[in-house]
Amino acid sequence: MIKKKRNFLKITGLSFLMAFLLPYKLLYSATKKIINQNLTDEQKDIMFNEATERPYTSTLNYENREGFFHCANCGAKLFSSKAKFDSGTGWPSFTESLPGAFKTKIDYSLGMKRVEYHCANCGVHHGHVFANGLSKKRFCNNGLCLIFKPDNN
Ligand SMILES: [Zn+2]
Repeated sequence: MIKKKRNFLKITGLSFLMAFLLPYKLLYSATKKIINQNLTDEQKDIMFNEATERPYTSTLNYENREGFFHCANCGAKLFSSKAKFDSGTGWPSFTESLPGAFKTKIDYSLGMKRVEYHCANCGVHHGHVFANGLSKKRFCNNGLCLIFKPDNN
């Protein structure tokens, strides 16, 4: 009886430890969920597997109207058109996000240290943020993760 109890403690102790040892990435992916049921396979691959769309494929590269860019999964407002600029990289780029729009994590894939960012509301991957010059930032966003809504006036 006592032995059984010890084993039980050992197992629960171990799973308790495992919960803390789980890589952050696993915990983080558990927070992501499909909200927009109409997402394409390509969108899902980017949002949930952190794939990257081919450069110069997004029509949002050429979007110059006033308005806001929203998360294509949950609809959260992420960027103002005022922060958008032509970076020449082939992906929609922004100097800043709306406050609290994203959360970040360090990404060591591709053998380099990059700062990954994801929607603070639904958790899906959007892109990477880079230092751009002395003080400016560049949010490099997959166009497929964004929906643009122009101002009505
Ligand atoms: Zn979202």
